[in-house]
Amino acid sequence: MLYGVTGKILKVDLDQQRTSVEEHDEAFYRTYGGGGCLASYYLLKERPAKIEPLSPDNLLVFASGPLVGTGIPGGNRFSVAAISPLTGCYGEAEAGGWWSPELKKAGYDAIIVEGAAEKPVYLWIDEGTVRIRDAAHLWGKDTGETQDIIRCELGSRSVRVAAIGPGGENLVRFACVVNNLRHTNGRSGMGAVMGSKNLKAIALHGRQQVPMKDREALIRIRRWYAENFMDHPVERVLHDGGTIGWDVTELDEAGILPTRNFHSGSFEHADAICGETFHRDFFVEADGCWACPVRCKRVARSQGPDVVDPRYGGPEYETAGAFGSLCGVSNLEAVCKAHELCNKYTLDTISTGSTIAFAMECFENGLLTHEDTGGLELRFGNDRAMLQLIQQIATREGIGDLLAEGSRRAAQQIGGGSERFAMQTKGQEMAMHEPRGKASLALAYALSSSGANHTEAPHDFLFQPGAFGVGDMAELGILEGVAAQYLGPEKVRQFAYMQMTWQVFNTLGMCIFTAGPGKLLKMSQVAQALAAATGWDTSLWEVMKLGERTITAKRAVSVRQGISRSDDRLPERMFEPLEGGLLKGKALDRAEFERALDLYYDALGWDPRTGVPTPGKLNELGLGWASPLLDQFRGRE
Ligand code: SF4
Repeated sequence: MLYGVTGKILKVDLDQQRTSVEEHDEAFYRTYGGGGCLASYYLLKERPAKIEPLSPDNLLVFASGPLVGTGIPGGNRFSVAAISPLTGCYGEAEAGGWWSPELKKAGYDAIIVEGAAEKPVYLWIDEGTVRIRDAAHLWGKDTGETQDIIRCELGSRSVRVAAIGPGGENLVRFACVVNNLRHTNGRSGMGAVMGSKNLKAIALHGRQQVPMKDREALIRIRRWYAENFMDHPVERVLHDGGTIGWDVTELDEAGILPTRNFHSGSFEHADAICGETFHRDFFVEADGCWACPVRCKRVARSQGPDVVDPRYGGPEYETAGAFGSLCGVSNLEAVCKAHELCNKYTLDTISTGSTIAFAMECFENGLLTHEDTGGLELRFGNDRAMLQLIQQIATREGIGDLLAEGSRRAAQQIGGGSERFAMQTKGQEMAMHEPRGKASLALAYALSSSGANHTEAPHDFLFQPGAFGVGDMAELGILEGVAAQYLGPEKVRQFAYMQMTWQVFNTLGMCIFTAGPGKLLKMSQVAQALAAATGWDTSLWEVMKLGERTITAKRAVSVRQGISRSDDRLPERMFEPLEGGLLKGKALDRAEFERALDLYYDALGWDPRTGVPTPGKLNELGLGWASPLLDQFRGRE
């Protein structure tokens, strides 16, 4: 008997309109867990190299993890993964909320979707029974309308709906997937992959209790967490202010708040978009995810002039940064409205804001004209133009059609040297964290298999000498902190270990805000929770190896899509001095960055010339079967 997982993976063939169930044993779940590792397994096993992302050949995976539904705070997440239409390589986005626990209660650990339906459909999964239903009447609807109609026709307000809106339908390359209107699988364009498959939504209902080996032990951990989280400096701040309250002011003061497309690290109007202003003028209530007492989500409302609908939640820090300082916008109501529009239309707020900031810089430098923009005065700070562009991107109207391709492709079409304004790696726009002030982000953005990804590994500030997160690394064997801007060998070692921790969570279905170094639950407690849930005689060692396996499996998928070391790059601007803020004049050192990459490849067992995982490393991680799949890429640099 299996514990902690359902043991069932639902396979949906939209070409044939057929479903089937695959069952796996303990060894499978112990090796691949869930989330990104499980998705990579299927992408490697069942797909050839060089998949066209928006073709029916792509595989779309919705995967929970073994800690989802256990009641452990933060155990509520899932990954949506596929080959990304934004980057052409491994694509993935995580979300929390209620959808992932409901999937397990409905009887499945994951859903694998292949092919494409001839006409729009949605999946209805009710207590293990699966139906593929007509969605023609839903096509063109936003997420709120879609959820309302689906719940009405299924006769239940409690059905959990993950859906796409016009952004996904119109194949915007950074379209996201939204569940319960407030939780987004934001990055990598997974909504566009749904759209390419004519899959409008997946609706869930379930009541099954997934069996746990030691439910009492899980309850004890949960109680302990509830009694202690308000005494922890990070959990308390997240609870009291959300990410918008934690980050905007702090990053601005540290000189690393991305401003005007990463020109500066400080925004003169940071006070206008910070958590204090948000809570004073737009805050309605705190919100959260299943079985998590932290409740770090924020809900926004405004009566106008930009009326903001609280159904769609409220902006996280990333959204406040992307539509605020990055676009030079000081109107927080417009930022809240931008958030609402993105959740309605299913656009990733990071890539949307960053692509608009790119277009603003192009306009200010004469590379886009009024003729191109349809008369929009597309300058930094123009919040009206920003909101107009979000609508146009979702519907691909006017210049929105070009920007819906993402900043890298848009730059290729605009030309004139505009590539230097596209703040992306592997085609994915950078999140609102400044590599020139947080060296781990330089590695995370450059090395992540899915392009610039701020959830690849923990950020630097909690792990500087004297910072409270340093002690949490001791159980991993790292005994000293490293300065935030330092990019030498000690940082590479710290980054590699820390990356494994967040990739463990990605695969187990855990939130990075509740556990890991710098958070309340320690890695050894995560291993204990996993043992209690599954009955596996597991350890910190095995859990960390799961993280390393996840990193390497994702890399293997991207290698088969043609990624090599030459793609592990950063925008040129990162090697140029910051123009404002506390770190004014600070730039990354190119030689130091290249040395750091060399050390990382060596440490991870990837060929430093090509970035391809070696046969020995794949074998050591139990991925030896994937080694022949990479052979044709080993000679290329
Ligand atoms: S910490 Fe926040 S994002 Fe994480 S599970 Fe709790 S409420 Fe959700």
